[in-house]
Amino acid sequence: MTTEIAHFVAGARTRGESQRRAPVFNPATGEQTGEAVLASRADVDAAVRAAAAAFPGWAATPPLRRARILARFARIIEERTDELAAIITAEHGKTLSDAKGEIQRGLEVVEFATGAPQLLKGEFTDNVGTGVDSHAMRQPLGVVAGITPFNFPAMVPMWMFPVALACGNCFILKPSERDPSASLKLGEWLSEAGLPKGVFNVVQGDKEAVDALLAHPDVQAVSFVGSTPIARYVYETAACNGKRAQALGGAKNHMVVMPDADLDQAVDALMGAAYGSAGERCMAVSVAVPVGEATANALVERLIPKVRALKVGPGTDPEAEMGPLVTRQHRDKVSAYVDAGVAEGAKLLVDGRNLTLQGYENGFFIGGSLFDHVTADMKIYREEIFGPVLCVARAESHDAALELINDHEFGNGAAIFTRDGDTAREFAQQVRAGMVGINVPIPVPMAFHSFGGWKASLFGDHHMHGPEGVRFYTRLKTITSRWPTGIRSGASFVMPTMR
Ligand code: NAD
Repeated sequence: MTTEIAHFVAGARTRGESQRRAPVFNPATGEQTGEAVLASRADVDAAVRAAAAAFPGWAATPPLRRARILARFARIIEERTDELAAIITAEHGKTLSDAKGEIQRGLEVVEFATGAPQLLKGEFTDNVGTGVDSHAMRQPLGVVAGITPFNFPAMVPMWMFPVALACGNCFILKPSERDPSASLKLGEWLSEAGLPKGVFNVVQGDKEAVDALLAHPDVQAVSFVGSTPIARYVYETAACNGKRAQALGGAKNHMVVMPDADLDQAVDALMGAAYGSAGERCMAVSVAVPVGEATANALVERLIPKVRALKVGPGTDPEAEMGPLVTRQHRDKVSAYVDAGVAEGAKLLVDGRNLTLQGYENGFFIGGSLFDHVTADMKIYREEIFGPVLCVARAESHDAALELINDHEFGNGAAIFTRDGDTAREFAQQVRAGMVGINVPIPVPMAFHSFGGWKASLFGDHHMHGPEGVRFYTRLKTITSRWPTGIRSGASFVMPTMR
């Protein structure tokens, strides 16, 4: 028995008119559990029309009232975290504790967005000229869309829509077709919290739905998170169609380990950052860069037994540290990267291929792999693997480590482990990445800061959530007014200046 996973438009589930469907699997068992409807252009149009109809009322709703709805939504998420986590684990595969962690990080953005009245406060200058005042305000854009990846089915949508809604926009979410169910829960809980119909909508779909959103004249802005080729495509297409766009792409995050680092701390950090969520995180550390041979040897020696001892299991097993990968195809792709690393001459210290779990033989499992002596020309170094594979790329010096990172195509996050303040400061100043950790392996900014990378990890000007999110989802209007109106200076034909 498979469940049909529908759209959510104008406050209700609907299957739309399209007959196309995509299978949804439980990655732990390999069984198909659902079937997501895939929107046609007409289905997308229906959602945009619902959002456009809701926009005038929502935009006119005082920010404080919008904030109260978001505060109720936050309480619902808190109370029902277990329910949402179970949905995520069933379709994504990550452990329940990891799913709860992603919900918590998303919830924090909702909490940030409940500050809407403060976030939307404008600027005012009294008497910019005699009897003339100026004020600037930020107004919502209209209907905006979010297109999200499989790896955070709750958190990444929540990077976007709470801020968009707080600012007075109406939202269309197009989640990943691989784990689409969490989005429907979020839509229903928003309705329960009092959000008017049509303000938040979900269209399930694939490229056809994305292209319909990118072409739709009533969609004002597009937020995207996913792989770099699609991020580039979405950004370019949206911009060509006159839309505001922010498109976050792939990553290859490095963690430098200096000779003076607390090695046990660095090893623990690497284990969690490389293998947590089976490496399917855009902020996963996929390259460790120990500086100096002695550091490298000591690091690798401590990593090997820990990688071998990783507890891999279904996400529902409280003992599991790592669940399966999201699909069979993705598991095979990660396995093929390990093959490629061996063929290219990297030293495979721990081989996670060919892992089978008793009772879960059809699940999409793979064990943790560890490579040493990885060099910058290798495919496993250049490309994002997005699985539990850690590459050790040895560097001679801090400068060499920095050069390695700065030459890489991606620039999402980067971290350094050291006890030396000078080195840490120099690293933070010089590294070409959007988010930097100092003795912190996954430096995901909190909701009231903004999330985003550099280079091929982000196309567009704005990072997500925090102050950047508010800027992205609003446009500026500056009003100059003369009071009292009785002041007369006669017609002037020169460029206006204030006296
Ligand atoms: P993906 O690019 O395959 O899919 C992302 C979204 O784009 C999905 O909604 C999908 O339906 C849609 N899509 C897929 N192919 C498309 C096409 N040809 N045309 C139009 N739309 C298309 O990404 P994914 O596999 O779901 O997610 C993993 C990727 O996301 C990784 O590269 C990861 O680094 C990245 N990611 C980045 C961040 C970040 O903040 N930079 C965060 C999370 C994930």
